[in-house]
Amino acid sequence: MAKFKGKLFIEGDIILQTGLHIGGSKETGEIGGLDNPVIKTVKGVPYIPGSSLKGKIRCLLERTENIESKKNGEPCSCGKCNICLLFGSHSSDKKTLSRLIIRDSYLDEEHFMAEFGDFLEGEYTEEKTENIIDRITGTAQHPRTMERVPAGAKFKFSSSISFYDGDDINELVKTFIEGIRMLEDDYLGGSGTRGYGQIRFENMAFYAKNIESYSKDNKKDEIETYKNLNDVNIDNIVNKLKEKLEMNQR
Ligand SMILES: [Zn+2]
Repeated sequence: MAKFKGKLFIEGDIILQTGLHIGGSKETGEIGGLDNPVIKTVKGVPYIPGSSLKGKIRCLLERTENIESKKNGEPCSCGKCNICLLFGSHSSDKKTLSRLIIRDSYLDEEHFMAEFGDFLEGEYTEEKTENIIDRITGTAQHPRTMERVPAGAKFKFSSSISFYDGDDINELVKTFIEGIRMLEDDYLGGSGTRGYGQIRFENMAFYAKNIESYSKDNKKDEIETYKNLNDVNIDNIVNKLKEKLEMNQR
């Protein structure tokens, strides 16, 4: 197995551009609650599971590859492509490390209260009723209620990529940035084709931490910050990261 060299940390804000619905469990919900609740922490605050972010980004990236080659719509399991190296291989015989970690993104509650406190009265969500239009009468039928986190809410995004000897840093960083940029043009959670789940990344900060840091000060060094994903300069990140990790082989 290749030797661990260090990490790139990518942190920032996820700002909801439209209402977000990531389905939660109804089991814990109160009787008479909503039909379609959103996932929440034990304290009842909505959050974005890291698995939702990771799965969606991977899916979007894999769609840029030849979609016909993926049997049964399963994730890639080649164990060699940039996507498998970042996200891990979906195969028991071609195991690869998952270099990418995406943490759960928690709601910025202070920001939320300042933004919505007067309107939502201590609740973190809005209810949206949806209907199917009867094709003959033109009237709404079968109303159902969807719970959503409202547009404008802010979540704290936190992720990291581990690097090992021989890794192509440029390819791995580029793939990740492509993925989160694609996510902005796509959606998160349910009902995305009907307007839900549009997000934007803001205040992105990139930090490097090499293996030596763990035995010294345990610090990560800020290498780049950007207001939004349009401004992200992959070459600058890669060059500074290589310097920090002392990997100049590529
Ligand atoms: Zn692969």
